[in-house]
Amino acid sequence: MVERMLKFVGTPQAMPAKRSAATRRRDHDEIYAGYAEAKAAEQAGRCSQCGVPFCQVHCPLGNHIPDWLKLTAEGRLEEAYEVSQATNSFPEICGRICPQDRLCEGNCVIEKGFESVTIGAIEKYVTDTAFERGWVRAPRPRRELASSIGIVGAGPAGLAAAERLRRRGHAVTVYDRHDRVGGLLIYGIPNFKLDKDIVQRREALLRGAGIEFRLGVEIGRDLALAELRSRHDAVLLATGVYAARELGGPGAGLPGIEPALDYLIAANRVGLGDRLPAADERRLDARGKRVVVIGGGDTAMDCVRTAVRQGAASVTCLYRRDRANMPGSQREVRHAEEEGVVFSWLAAPQAFDGAGRLERVRAIRVHLGVADASGRQTPREIAGSGFELEADLALKALGFDPEPLPTLLAAPDLATRANGTLRIDSKSFQTSLDGVYAAGDIVRGASLVVWAIKDGRDAADALHARLAARAATRAAA
Ligand code: FAD
Ligand code: SF4
Ligand code: SF4
Repeated sequence: MVERMLKFVGTPQAMPAKRSAATRRRDHDEIYAGYAEAKAAEQAGRCSQCGVPFCQVHCPLGNHIPDWLKLTAEGRLEEAYEVSQATNSFPEICGRICPQDRLCEGNCVIEKGFESVTIGAIEKYVTDTAFERGWVRAPRPRRELASSIGIVGAGPAGLAAAERLRRRGHAVTVYDRHDRVGGLLIYGIPNFKLDKDIVQRREALLRGAGIEFRLGVEIGRDLALAELRSRHDAVLLATGVYAARELGGPGAGLPGIEPALDYLIAANRVGLGDRLPAADERRLDARGKRVVVIGGGDTAMDCVRTAVRQGAASVTCLYRRDRANMPGSQREVRHAEEEGVVFSWLAAPQAFDGAGRLERVRAIRVHLGVADASGRQTPREIAGSGFELEADLALKALGFDPEPLPTLLAAPDLATRANGTLRIDSKSFQTSLDGVYAAGDIVRGASLVVWAIKDGRDAADALHARLAARAATRAAA
């Protein structure tokens, strides 16, 4: 082992080649190339095989990272893939879009002064190679069970649950109001972070395993939850969170101020070859416009970088905290800065001006005051520090809350927490309705893909255990 591992002293960290910012600005393609085999092995060999691997502790899926790094370093890629996919339903997706700087890599403890192992890039490499070499197979069950499960939501939580339940032999039907599979993987996260082919490659596998998708069906509108419960032995709600937080202040309703997700969905649709409704073509396109994005999370970062690629005249991100306190990934901020985005930290919008449509954003500088109950410092306006930004398009990226599901699903007994997320039993994943389970952002609140996968897998296991116990009781009776 020692021969191939512990190479961090003599081998510097090397990410896969990153395309130049000037080239990236001109297309919507992913920004990193893949590793070549020798490079992946070399980089995996930097791991010091820690006795207590903090990388693994801080991976929400508890991936056996040192194990698959060692196998990669030894050129045993198929085994590396087997170990990696045992804990992660979609490793090629997490390798691309997990904020590794806050999770596995941020907690890699190779000695001080040496940069972390490039865990995400190696995870992506291993699974992409497995796809190329035909090692990734549809999750077909060994035997069919009599039970049928309905999943609402084809995002990462719903898909991870579907994959796991189908593997066990349940008949699985996934319903989604969108016309494509993937949830925010397809209609939120832009192509330059996660190529849509990667998502559709997974969809093909899931279909190949016999999972049925009913797309363009909104539960609560096109099909009642009660009907779904009568069709299936169990229902899993994995509907995500979609109620966008609103801007206040004078002029906040002016044309030219748009919700971030409408903008990103439109950009993703165009990338997928769809024609937008005529009214949206100009409204949701940044070409030639002075764009101001308000917010500091992943959604804001995706908006600024999409606007750059669409040919915006200028792109400014207005965020009321500083760089260190933003929720978005620091790596994404660096990419955005390289691509020409201007960050106006510690600044908040006050009003929006324009004759009939947006012409400028009036903003004010803030400083961070004392910490609130959550431990985050509260922004305080600095008197007399107002300033203006010329703008043709402002994108509201202030975060998302759950939609009011009990009302939308006509299920008043569906219990929620004060913030609108669904209340579940932490062991069984069951909601307050018998046979109705829930997982992903709708339970956790707006979070990360890797957590949605974890929750979807855990909910599937709990649900399977419940159905198996019920079937055993019936058989014994
Ligand atoms: P979703 O992915 O939201 O999927 C829910 C699905 O349910 C949707 O397809 C929706 O159409 C469907 N649905 C909802 N209601 C109904 C209904 N009544 N009937 C039928 N279907 C319904 N996380 C990361 O880890 N890395 C990132 O880089 C990252 N970037 C992001 C960028 C953006 C713009 C956004 C908004 C989020 C980002 N996230 C990122 C967060 C991540 O996408 C989410 O945490 C994750 O997708 C949640 O998964 P989910 O399956 O719970 O919900
Ligand atoms: Fe790191 Fe995410 Fe992969 Fe876990 S799933 S090892 S956090 S990239
Ligand atoms: Fe290897 Fe870093 Fe994980 Fe230690 S923390 S096992 S060095 S990847």
